[in-house]
Amino acid sequence: MNELLPVLDETRCTGCGDCVAVCPAGCLAMSGPTPWMPRPLDCVYCALCVRVCPTDALRMG
Ligand code: SF4
Ligand code: SF4
Repeated sequence: MNELLPVLDETRCTGCGDCVAVCPAGCLAMSGPTPWMPRPLDCVYCALCVRVCPTDALRMG
């Protein structure tokens, strides 16, 4: 397995929380103004968080 986890560009993130809301695995959470990944082992690499982000602040990294 060499799957890539989403990576955040904090300079682009507005803190809207859409990525947390859309994640089907519940592996993201807000930490103050930015999302983080408290449960990386639950990620299913679907990239929905990347696609939903309105400011392109996430990429599969
Ligand atoms: S890639 Fe999918 S499962 Fe992983 S953090 Fe993003 S929305 Fe959640
Ligand atoms: S969807 Fe994008 S802008 Fe919104 S909190 Fe997530 S990373 Fe930040």
